[in-house]
Amino acid sequence: MCYNRGMEYCDCCPRRCRADRVNTTGYCGERGLKIARASLHMWEEPPISGTRGSGTIFFSGCNLKCVYCQNYDISRGKGSQLTVAQLADLFKRIEDSGAHNVNLVTATHFSDMIVKAFELYKPSIPVVYNCGGYESKETLSRLDGIVDVYLPDFKYADDALAKKYSNAPDYFEVCAGAIKEMRRQQPEDILQDGLMKKGMIIRHLVLPGATANTLKVLDWIKDNLSSKTYISVMGQYIPFGEAKKYPPLDRKLKPIEYKIAVSHALKCGFDNAFVQDTDSADDKYVPDFDESPIPLY
Ligand code: SF4
Repeated sequence: MCYNRGMEYCDCCPRRCRADRVNTTGYCGERGLKIARASLHMWEEPPISGTRGSGTIFFSGCNLKCVYCQNYDISRGKGSQLTVAQLADLFKRIEDSGAHNVNLVTATHFSDMIVKAFELYKPSIPVVYNCGGYESKETLSRLDGIVDVYLPDFKYADDALAKKYSNAPDYFEVCAGAIKEMRRQQPEDILQDGLMKKGMIIRHLVLPGATANTLKVLDWIKDNLSSKTYISVMGQYIPFGEAKKYPPLDRKLKPIEYKIAVSHALKCGFDNAFVQDTDSADDKYVPDFDESPIPLY
């Protein structure tokens, strides 16, 4: 955070609020270090969840705050304050729990404290950085050498959609640059026994009424990275948060919309594509943020 000016002048994500995060908050709504849940999570992609689960840490707040957020309560601030030392201890306890990795979910706005926590304790299992794709290159460069697997969303290649649903009209340009930096840091996808040890998986949630956006995202990945890139085409959309106010986000995805997305991924030649059963669009797959199966401290 605030690499050049200190925590009183936050510019650690592309919002560049210049907020004083010691005494107040910026767009992400957070100061200090706040976490909502830690658990062994079985619903990530198979190379991340494996057989024993991914050691997910869900951070509170968000620098995107999409209107349809599937983790709405925590992106709007639900959670508990921790110290850097407590976070380092949590890394160790997640490792001891048998998790395949430590999975940092929506951690961008706490990146400075996360770097400090890894200085106190670096687990021997891979570190996964699971983010919305709206990342500054400066912050990513601080994570170089810490993060083993990048798991970014690529939500939009359409600036109007990005503005309407995530208040981020520059999302496409920013995300494209961030993903290129992630690929630079982890140029090879290395899997052992079906688990990703190094590399990147790009996620894309297909949105209702937005298949043209999906096709542009897939085309960008093929043209700018390669069709060997690991991608996850997600059809699990259900209207959460404020989605009811933004039709057609007020409905589930139609099977034909997901079919168009998957067909295009196949046409692009993506060999390493994860797809979902449409019955995964169920709120039973959303974690319960009233409890933390691995205690936070
Ligand atoms: S991390 Fe938060 S306060 Fe800092 S620039 Fe991003 S949104 Fe603003």
